[in-house]
Amino acid sequence: MTTLTDRTHPDAPTTGHLQVHNVHKSFGTLEVLRGVDLEVRPGEVTVILGPSGSGKSTLLRVINHLERADSGFVVVDDDLVGYRHKGNTLRELPEREILKQRTNIGFVFQNFNLFPHLTALENIIEAPVAAQKRDKNEAIREARQLLKKVGLEDKADVYPRQLSGGQQQRVAIARALATNPKVLLFDEPTSALDPELVGEVLRVIKELAHSGTTLVIVTHEIGFAKEIADTVVFMDQGVIVEQGTPTQVIDQPEQQRTRAFLESVL
Ligand code: ADP
Ligand code: MG
Repeated sequence: MTTLTDRTHPDAPTTGHLQVHNVHKSFGTLEVLRGVDLEVRPGEVTVILGPSGSGKSTLLRVINHLERADSGFVVVDDDLVGYRHKGNTLRELPEREILKQRTNIGFVFQNFNLFPHLTALENIIEAPVAAQKRDKNEAIREARQLLKKVGLEDKADVYPRQLSGGQQQRVAIARALATNPKVLLFDEPTSALDPELVGEVLRVIKELAHSGTTLVIVTHEIGFAKEIADTVVFMDQGVIVEQGTPTQVIDQPEQQRTRAFLESVL
């Protein structure tokens, strides 16, 4: 067991404990999340697998409060995400506080979502400076370190359109790290990439998996999932069908739905 998943080890991470409690979410009459419970312990890597339309993106968006749950709630460490307790009910936080809280949770999107009119460096310092009110020069220094970490130290002043998809996604990962989030969410981070660019992005994510940040990754890269996940979760039709170690869920799935899905992607 690594220090990261051995919680008795003195260097084990202590922040980034994610708890999702009985989340329901509908769009009109379509029930997309039908009671999802999920716990990811500090520093752990959870990979979510599941067919298209099963609610994976919606779950990530609810965790980050980009989408509001109809019922249920999300807690990171001891903070309710997007809400505050008021007596026995949950009251939504003001937008300003939600934005600030969101800097605790990084999000990497399938389509990178970089600001096209900002350079790589400007993309990375945007949230630290605008949302966290950090010193700009310090944010720039850190952004350069992050660019180095994702192998793009020479691309600081380049605009997204001048970068390959793999490079854009690595800038997006650096941007997500810039607020020093406790939890980092990835929504199919390599799905929009040409096959030859997938490896460079997976390599960067793999390094993060050993850094102590809690990661939740939606992906169809089964080999990658087996390599880095502490826990694999299989979702279908708005519920978690089964979860366990990669060996349990990927090599010896118990549920027919999991087996059928794995056969379709492997
Ligand atoms: P996945 O990421 O697993 O493919 P999603 O969470 O994106 O699934 O979507 C689950 C279902 O919810 C799909 O049927 C999708 O069309 C629907 N859906 C997602 N977002 C919205 C939305 N904003 N409005 C209406 N329907 C949505
Ligand atoms: Mg999705």
